[in-house]
Amino acid sequence: MTKKPYRLLAPGPVPLPKAVQAALSRPILHHRTPEFEKILTGCLHRLKDVFQTKHYVILHASTGSGGMESALLNIVQPGDEVLCVVSGKFGERWAKMANTYGAIVHTLNVEWGSPVDVDHVQNLLKQYPDIKAVFTQVCETSTATVHSIKELAERVHATSSALVAVDAITAMGCMNLPMDEWGLDVVVAGSQKAFMLPTGLSFVGFSERAWQVCQKNPQPRFYFDWRPELAANEKSQTFFSSPGTHLMALDVVLKEFESFGFHNIVRRGHHLAEATRQGAKALGLDLFSKAPADSVTAIAMPEGVDSQKIRSWLETEHNITVMGGQDQLKGKIIRVGHMGDITDEDMLVFFECLAQGLSREDRLPVVQKIVREELAKAAKAFQ
Ligand SMILES: *Cc1c(COP(=O)(O)O)cnc(C)c1O
Repeated sequence: MTKKPYRLLAPGPVPLPKAVQAALSRPILHHRTPEFEKILTGCLHRLKDVFQTKHYVILHASTGSGGMESALLNIVQPGDEVLCVVSGKFGERWAKMANTYGAIVHTLNVEWGSPVDVDHVQNLLKQYPDIKAVFTQVCETSTATVHSIKELAERVHATSSALVAVDAITAMGCMNLPMDEWGLDVVVAGSQKAFMLPTGLSFVGFSERAWQVCQKNPQPRFYFDWRPELAANEKSQTFFSSPGTHLMALDVVLKEFESFGFHNIVRRGHHLAEATRQGAKALGLDLFSKAPADSVTAIAMPEGVDSQKIRSWLETEHNITVMGGQDQLKGKIIRVGHMGDITDEDMLVFFECLAQGLSREDRLPVVQKIVREELAKAAKAFQ
């Protein structure tokens, strides 16, 4: 039997467009060449457009968590009070990281699957007026929940002088996140999610206020220090060897964002997510999140169905990769990603298999109709 085509529907890494794969197989270009320097400056410039900032965006050869560490090291020093919104696995990461570097961490625990209540954030800032920075996710990937970041930032700035630092690893590149307009001080993104690249690049945007804090921050740091990085960028270089191949591919992605129109990319993603949400409901399933994100959807499994079993059955029998739940959500949900080069066929085959796995084939015609309608809207985003 021939193996079925591989369908990657995870919230990162994601399937890469052909043009990106082609860029990744180009011969190595040395980073001290005019041709490369042009690619680097072009990428840095276009990243600012995606982040919608006039201020600073740098990149690191690291995974997304490296970008988070970069954010933390440059704006926080040991003994600083920080507030971490913990609404899932990645929120826990902020708290652990801040703790590791000697910050005094106040955590705002949010029920998994719920968005953060900005009143609670404001109350904590009043209670602890020395909080220097608020760390949160934009989309908490482990629960597929999107927070109201615009309101959160507004509330923080109205209440205190704390910086707002967001992990936008499954938000930047697939949702409208105007950094300057919303008053976001640090924004972290990663290559293997909406940027449709292999794992290994992180992007960090920061405001003028964050830059001022960074310059005075005595916290020891070396690899992730923004100061030499920015100085190198001004000379069309990076602080260390540039991840050249990744950057050639990033160049392709950012030019694609530009030529399709970034708002169309966002629109397409929204309809893919909507197709998944509507399709799941038509299959008689509930969404886990109370504020579903457009980058990833968490579908709750019916009582008595172990999502881990469905997940591994999809993988072994159908060559489809989706993610399960972590910790308290283990066995309860499957998470389907909407980022990257996902085809209509990927979506339709996924629902066909899911219906089969749950013995709900009778509902499939209705599901397919609904999914196809949303996919048609997604396609229109690019016309
Ligand atoms: C994927 C992800 C990360 C971690 O990224 P790595 O590249 O694995 O370090 C962090 N935060 C969120 C919200 C993510 O989705």
